[in-house]
Amino acid sequence: MAKLCRCTKSGCNLPAECFQIVFNEYYAMSSPQQYRFLADHIDITEPARRYYIKIRGVRHQLCERMFLASLSLKDSSLRKTKLKLQQGITCFDDGRGRTRGVNKFQITEETKNRIRHHILSYKARESHYARKKQGLSVGI
Ligand SMILES: [Zn+2]
Repeated sequence: MAKLCRCTKSGCNLPAECFQIVFNEYYAMSSPQQYRFLADHIDITEPARRYYIKIRGVRHQLCERMFLASLSLKDSSLRKTKLKLQQGITCFDDGRGRTRGVNKFQITEETKNRIRHHILSYKARESHYARKKQGLSVGI
């Protein structure tokens, strides 16, 4: 399989499926959660900022280009987020509060299964082989 990025950072060498999962998770979040996610995945304490992708709880470093691409983030929105992080803004709530202990937007098992299914159907299409015939209507 072609590599997504030419650099040697471990996160850049992960298979596309990993990025798909992170992408889906990110877009299932509310905006304060997305901000918290970014805060958790960007290390701004270093002069040369580091970016990470977290796969099954393990952080892999990746380059900025891949970080942006994997979340399809605009450079400008990333810059704004970084600025906030540098200013030490840690209040991620958008004024509504009461978020402690409430995981309203937590990814449910159902969502995870849907993502898993999505990836599997991807693979099936790639290999021109349908894993499950059941419920699949192919062609005319
Ligand atoms: Zn890279």
